[in-house]
Formats: sequence, C-alpha cells, structure tokens
Amino acid sequence: MADVVVVGSANVDLVLPVQRIPRPGETVLASGLSRGPGGKGANQAVAAARAGASTAFVASLGADESGELLRTALTESGVDLSLVSTTSTPTGTAIITVAADGENSIVVAPSANAELALSAEALSAIRSAKVVLAQLEIPFPTVQAAAEASSYFVLNAAPAAELSDELLAQVDLLVVNETEAEAVGGLLLDRVPAAVITLGAEGAVILTRGAAEVRVPGVPVEVVDTTAAGDTFCGVLAATLAAASTSSANTGSVTVGDLTNAVRRANVAASLSVKTAGAIPSVPHGENIDARAA
Ligand code: ADP
Repeated sequence: MADVVVVGSANVDLVLPVQRIPRPGETVLASGLSRGPGGKGANQAVAAARAGASTAFVASLGADESGELLRTALTESGVDLSLVSTTSTPTGTAIITVAADGENSIVVAPSANAELALSAEALSAIRSAKVVLAQLEIPFPTVQAAAEASSYFVLNAAPAAELSDELLAQVDLLVVNETEAEAVGGLLLDRVPAAVITLGAEGAVILTRGAAEVRVPGVPVEVVDTTAAGDTFCGVLAATLAAASTSSANTGSVTVGDLTNAVRRANVAASLSVKTAGAIPSVPHGENIDARAA
C-alpha cells in the first residue's frame, strides 16, 4: 500500500521555443520541437516518489506511444502504476510555446485524462493512503470522489478554477499560487483549514486556522526553466507530510510544525527544479533536496 496516492493528469508535452508568443491570428516559427513526459499529476507523482515516498498514481492513459513514454518515465522514477488505466482515447497532450523572455503559453488537450474515474482498487488505495494529492486537470467528480475517500486530502487547485463549497469541505490542505488563490475566491481560511500559497522566487506562505501565518522565504537560484516548479513543490510536500508521522496525516491532523517542515523541504526542492530545463527531468531526488536543505 502506497503512503502517497496522486490522482491526476498525465500529458505528453510538446515544447516549441519561439521568439515571442503568437498573437491571435498570427503564425510564428519555432526554433525547435521537443517532446517529453509531463502533466501536473505525473510531475507530482514523480516528485513524491523521488522525494522518498512510496507513491501510487491514479491516471488514465491512451494505448499509444505517448502513453508508453509516460509509463517509462514514471516507472523509472519508482512510481507504482498498477492503478493507471488505459483507454482507446489518445493520451493527453500539452502544446507549450516558450518565448525568449521565458514567458509561456500552454494549451492542453485532456483526451484520456477526461475519462479518469476511480476504480474500486483506486478507492481502496486512496482510503489507506496517508496523503492523497490531486489537481484540476481531471474531471471534477473524480477529484470530489477522491477527496471524500481520503483521510488527508491535499488539493493543488491548478489550473486556476472557482471551487465549490462541496469540494472545499473535503480539503485538508489547499496549495495554490497567487493567481489560483484569487480564482478560488473568498478568504481561503473561511473555506479550508490550511492553505499554502506559493510565491515564485519569494517562496511560500502557510495559512492555518487559529495559528499565525508562517513565511518560508525563497531560495535564490539562477532560473533556467520554471516548468514543474509548482508540481515539484506539491509532490515533495505530500511526500514529506506522509513521512512526518505514521499516523497524524491518517487522522487528518497535521501539526503546524509538520506542515512548516514539509513546506521548507518542498520550497528547497522546487528551487532546485527551476535550475534545470523540462518538467520531469527537472524534478530533484531526495538526496539532493536534503543535501541542499542541510
Ligand atoms: P507555479 O509554478 O505553480 O506558478 P510558483 O511560481 O509560486 O508556482 O512556484 C512554486 C515554487 O517554486 C515556489 O514556492 C518556490 O519554492 C519555487 N520557485 C519558483 N520560482 C522560483 C525562483 N525564481 N527562484 C526560486 N524558487 C522558485
């Protein structure tokens, strides 16, 4: 049984470096084309496994070459794929244009991800996991069902979306960047017991009901590519919370101290990820995170 279960998307990323992002109606030429494994769910599962947690991934892949590419990358990182289903719909694909100034623009075709539903086996793994982590690139009813079955549910509310009270009532910890925090709407702590807002180079802030706000400053690094920084952060956070105690996450009560330690480690890991290009290739391993944090 895995300590961390990630329920989420898997995409093949097609990355097109361009001088600048095309305007509506405009065509521009890319200087190259690279293809690699990605998707928020897959990136986060890899981050949790590389950070040392036993990690299972619940996802839907196509029976195609893209699906194989993802299976290979996830398996090589030690992610348990026994709960990944295969469908006749193609694997999800993201088209990512990256401009010379680092700005990007992304269009995702969810394809197989849109069919993700929870099997009895997936529900059972979710029930016994210490920490369950999901994002919003899969159908809302699937996220809701995972949340209801979890003892400690972490929602990375990305891509940005307005969220229902019904879903937020099941969330133990919300992780969002500043844009996503605005999209959720309302005062976060009126809606969830704890939230982490990531602040890019500035690090992150932890909000917990009934406790003082905790700021974790960013780790200064030379930025190469911020793709998957947020995903690295979420995966390492989930892995570290699962390791914090054999039981506390399982009872839904994580202390502010445990959460602070986990955010510090996630913040170090995410800073390391921005020093390397790509999504999954940039996700650090536990020994590198802890060498940097020591
Ligand atoms: P997202 O990538 O989801 O938009 P952020 O930009 O807030 O989210 O980044 C997530 C985390 O990645 C930050 O909390 C921080 O730990 C790390 N990070 C992002 N950008 C940088 C940077 N320029 N320098 C150092 N760390 C960074």
